[in-house]
Amino acid sequence: MGTGSGNGSDNGMMSVEDFRAEARAWIRENLDRREPAPAGKAAPEVTTKEDIEKARVLQRKLFDGGFAGISYPVEYGGRGLTALHERVFREEAAGFEAPDFGVVGSVTFGAIGRSLIEHCTPEFLEQHIPKILSGEEMWCQFYSEPEAGSDLAGIRTRAIRDGDRWIITGSKIWSSGAYLADWAMCLARTDWSAPKHRGLTWFAIPCDAKGVTINQIRQINGDAEFCEEFLDEVEVTDDDLIGEVNKGWAVTQTMLVYERGAGDGSATTLEPRKLAPDLVALAERVGRLDDPAARQAIATAHINDFAQYHLGKRISDRLRNSAVPDPHVAAYGKLAAGVLAPTRARLAMEVGGPAAVSWTPGDEEEGRPALDYLNGRRISIAAGTNEMQRNGIGERVLGLPREPSFDTNKPFSDVLKAARNWDSRGG
Ligand SMILES: Cc1cc2nc3c(=O)[nH]c(=O)nc-3n(C[C@H](O)[C@H](O)[C@H](O)COP(=O)(O)OP(=O)(O)OC[C@H]3O[C@@H](n4cnc5c(N)ncnc54)[C@H](O)[C@@H]3O)c2cc1C
Repeated sequence: MGTGSGNGSDNGMMSVEDFRAEARAWIRENLDRREPAPAGKAAPEVTTKEDIEKARVLQRKLFDGGFAGISYPVEYGGRGLTALHERVFREEAAGFEAPDFGVVGSVTFGAIGRSLIEHCTPEFLEQHIPKILSGEEMWCQFYSEPEAGSDLAGIRTRAIRDGDRWIITGSKIWSSGAYLADWAMCLARTDWSAPKHRGLTWFAIPCDAKGVTINQIRQINGDAEFCEEFLDEVEVTDDDLIGEVNKGWAVTQTMLVYERGAGDGSATTLEPRKLAPDLVALAERVGRLDDPAARQAIATAHINDFAQYHLGKRISDRLRNSAVPDPHVAAYGKLAAGVLAPTRARLAMEVGGPAAVSWTPGDEEEGRPALDYLNGRRISIAAGTNEMQRNGIGERVLGLPREPSFDTNKPFSDVLKAARNWDSRGG
């Protein structure tokens, strides 16, 4: 597949320089220029079906022009180039109107599409990948459950075989952008007599299938990007299998690696050349540009931005250059982001003081530090919490003793029975 290393110039692949020239010409010819956002102001969020429809039109344009799925395989509608070519396209398209699918887009193109390519049959890929790349199919992930997050292998949604059909029943939660998606990648238990990691299977489910109910969840920051789902005897077939029956854990690991930052190299685009511009703008707004404490906080943020950028770059390079990306290498970048995002949000509070928690209604720029503070924890939880990254690094990289586990080798149905009968005296 095309996510390999190098810049393409030494293996018959189009060189990055030639690609840049081609992309630049196409972009100027085909995309509209975008008004630059004011300093420190984020682009409006993608929250409605209308936003998605608008993005689909632009994505189709990219697909028809040969610039969708730049690092995806040619046989499924991609361009078969590298992550570096992807990055070059993003750089060239920076001042232009490009498709923005929000969180659904990053999940679809970043984690799901790439995982499907590694685990699905050619027939499945022929059916779905061109539609993903052209924007026709947006996907989301149904994996967490009310009682299984960090302990993902403990999920209880069940899929029962009935001839060549599967009947899926259970509930899922925290699915980012599910209300905007067309398809979901859903993890279900298919063998209750196997230990918990060995009886799992992934399925593709249309989000509008009979028996699927999707509800949005209102969050502390006012957004409602997460959803909960109820799956009531949802029917799929063998054609909807993602990977092999009862071998879903391998697919899970692939997906989590991509979710934690391997893939198209997008984590490496934000080189912090300027001194934390958003915090400098905030200090200016509250009249603290000369305040030593504010200056110290800005310098700390800049140092952290710089360190995170270079760590991310090293990790991305290493993941791209390895035949099988190592989830525990990805864990370092994920942990850094999970620690540094809340730290940076707190530094903004130090710089802004009381002014950082009050803003003129409707002024998104003024409200940004407070919202970032509320949102700062997301990355320390999404795709595996900081503690789970530390566990993985400790056990799998540093060789520390494994956490004691009472359920690893028992049939999952026995684990559930034991949990039901457990009392605080250990009976
Ligand atoms: C922004 C965001 C996007 C998300 N998107 C999706 C999505 O699209 N689809 C989806 O299915 N899910 C999604 N999730 C859910 C996410 O995967 C889970 O929230 C996460 O895995 C943690 O699970 P939990 O919330 O059940 O917390 P729990 O697992 O209950 O953890 C609670 C606390 O206990 C700690 N803990 C648990 N086990 C251990 C241990 N063994 N050692 C040390 N500490 C431990 C955790 O670190 C945490 O602090 C998303 C979450 C966020 C925040």
